[in-house]
Order: sequence, then structure tokens, then C-alpha cells
Amino acid sequence: MPALPAPRACVAAIPPYVPGRTPTPQPGLTVYKLSSNENPYPPLPGVLEAATAAAAQLNRYPDMGCTALYEALATRFDLAPERLAAATGSVALIYQILQAYCDPGDEVVHAWRSFEAYPIAITAAAATSVKVPVTARGEHDLDAMVAAVTDRTKVMLLCTPNNPTGPALTDSQVRRLLAQVPSRVLVVVDEAYLEFVRMEDAVDGAALLRDFANVVLTRTFSKAYGLANLRVGYAASSEEIAGALRAVSLPFGVSGIAQAAAIASLGAEAELMERVDALVEERSRVLTGLRAAGWQIPDAQGNFVWFDLPDATGEQTAAFAAAAERAGIVVRPFAGEGVRVSIGEVEANDRLLELASRLR
Ligand SMILES: *Cc1c(COP(=O)(O)O)cnc(C)c1O
Repeated sequence: MPALPAPRACVAAIPPYVPGRTPTPQPGLTVYKLSSNENPYPPLPGVLEAATAAAAQLNRYPDMGCTALYEALATRFDLAPERLAAATGSVALIYQILQAYCDPGDEVVHAWRSFEAYPIAITAAAATSVKVPVTARGEHDLDAMVAAVTDRTKVMLLCTPNNPTGPALTDSQVRRLLAQVPSRVLVVVDEAYLEFVRMEDAVDGAALLRDFANVVLTRTFSKAYGLANLRVGYAASSEEIAGALRAVSLPFGVSGIAQAAAIASLGAEAELMERVDALVEERSRVLTGLRAAGWQIPDAQGNFVWFDLPDATGEQTAAFAAAAERAGIVVRPFAGEGVRVSIGEVEANDRLLELASRLR
């Protein structure tokens, strides 16, 4: 038998990505998808028009340099455009960071449970995922993360707010960590839910970039801006790091439609904040209701809440998800660990509250 092409050994070890399920239609019942932390609002004013206009150029390649998008981001966040790298969602940036900085066997320290794409991207890069358990309150255990750094550590991933558990890091915590981690370690601050954070001493990414040359911020248009389907995110860092990320990027990855929609979204700041504020208000209402019903829910700084349901058999998480489905909401169970539920339409949130008090 002639030998067949063999993928690198790491490929077989890549854990599967479990996407949030899409609702199964139920007769006479609107089913809400609360399983992927999506934004329930339609695109911001002017965004659909900008995207449609860009679609007239479907026969042309997009601007590979993302020039106009970099200019818009640079103006909005007061950063030199050379310090930015755009990609097809911030997940792509995580892949690029690992590809650009990790050799096989290099270690990447991150919290766990955290964003499920991390171990996938790390394994795909043939690097080693070093998982540091979150605390009982779903927070990063930063002391343990610092202690996990070895000579092989190349990258540390901080997820703030942490998906799926909810709490965010404070600026002081991140600064203290950065003072303890060797500067040769790239520290990624994944700010996918940045816009939803409402806390004292919130992370000031721009100031971190000024003070630490080994920091990368990753951000996305998928969550607060509601452009999950268009696939566009960006990293902000030193010019050197941004250069490395651009070097490994997929040529023409970010479509012209996505670039136009992202720029138009940046131009609708007031409307964005209005929507985010409304979602944050709903988040407070849901949290208060769940806690009043007797659930212990960790602090929620993103657009989702976390039900901690540790159970070796996974029965509790499966039962919760099934009951939710019957109530017309699709949630995201993590078998044997817990259930994450996005903040969605008011009606959807009402159903969650009703369900959660019933299950308590
Ligand atoms: C959703 C999410 C992202 C971004 O996803 P993209 O759609 O690829 O931009 C990144 N990090 C975390 C923690 C997320 O939850």
C-alpha cells in the first residue's frame, strides 16, 4: 500500500469547536437563540447601506491593506494605523498570534474554562495549552497563571470578560500580572466584550499599550456591533507585533463588505452605546432576577450569564438545555460544567427568568 498524505500529528488532537445551536422551529412559538452571544439588534443605522454599496464591487478583490478601516480605527482609538492588524474576526487574530509567535511545543497559558477557541487554535499551532482553572467565582486565577509560566511560555491569553463565566479583570490586576510576567511573553488581552464592561477600575487597553510593549489587545465587531456574520476584528499592539500579525494574515481575508460595514459601524457610536446600554440594563435585570430566585451567578460583564452546574454525568447541563428548548430559548450547555445564556430580546430574557425560577 502506498503511504497516504499524513497531516501533522497535532491535527488529530484538535478539539472540536461546538457552535451554539440554531433553534429548531416550534409551531406557535418564537424560539430565541441565546447560544452564541450574538447581538439581538439589527445592524446599526447606515451599516446595511454601506455593506450593500460595497457589494456592488463583488467582482473586485477587497483592499488588502484595509486602509480605510485602519484610518477609521486609528482616529476612533487614537492609535497609529501601523499598530493595528485586522482579520476575519478576532478568532483569526488569536490564530495569527499563535502562528506568528509559537514554535511546536511552546506553551500558551490561559484560564479554563474560558473561550473554547483557545485550545483549538493552540493545538492547531502545535503549541501546548497550559490550562489554569478559574476560581469558584469564575475569575482568572492570576497568581496561578503567573506561576504556570516556564521557559517555554510564549503567549498568555487573558479573556476579559471571561467567556463563558462572565467576570472581567481589573486594570490593576492586569498591570500587576504584567509586572510579574517576563516581557518576552506576549500577553493577549481578549476584549471581545469590552463595550459591555461596567465596573470600577476597568481595563484601560490604550494605557496598557503605552506602558507594556508585550501586550496585544484583540477586539471584534461580532458582539456589541452585531456583525458576527461578516467576520471582522482587529488587534492593537506595538508596530512590531502588528507587523508580525499582518505578515501571517490570509491575503484579502477581510471582505470589502466587512470593511465598509465596520467603518460605518464606527460612525454610529451614539446608537451603539444606546443599544449596549439597553443590553447592560437587561443583563442587570436578569442577574437580579436569577439571584433572587436563588441561583449563584458569577459577576457578568459580557452579554451573557453563567450557570455553574458541575456534575460528572453532564445530566444537569443537558436537562437545563432541554428545558430551555421547551421554553423556546436555545442556550449553550458545557457538558458537566455549566450553561451559558446570552442576553437577548426582552421576551427571551423573560423566558430565561421564568425557566430559571422553575428549575430552582
Ligand atoms: C466571540 C468571541 C471572540 C470573537 O469572535 P469573532 O467573531 O471571531 O471576532 C473572541 N474572543 C472571545 C472570548 C469571544 O467570546
